[in-house]
Amino acid sequence: MMADIQNTYSGDNNMAQQDSYGDFDATELYCPKCKRAVPVRKKLLLVLSNGDKYDYSCVFCGTSLGDKMDLRKRPFTALIR
Ligand SMILES: [Zn+2]
Repeated sequence: MMADIQNTYSGDNNMAQQDSYGDFDATELYCPKCKRAVPVRKKLLLVLSNGDKYDYSCVFCGTSLGDKMDLRKRPFTALIR
């Protein structure tokens, strides 16, 4: 007699939908060199154990305008206190 413990953990399906969470790419950021809001290019900087770090740079002059951590949905203990 097997218990259905594994089936109750259906939250893992959310991982496949991370691609639809890419709204941030369409965001325009202010570029100090171009002196205007510009579309940004997303570049993968680092792959960490708890997520990926992306760098956002101006598509015109390449100036880095910021970065963002894409945290993976994992059973990983958060360090926020
Ligand atoms: Zn620029």
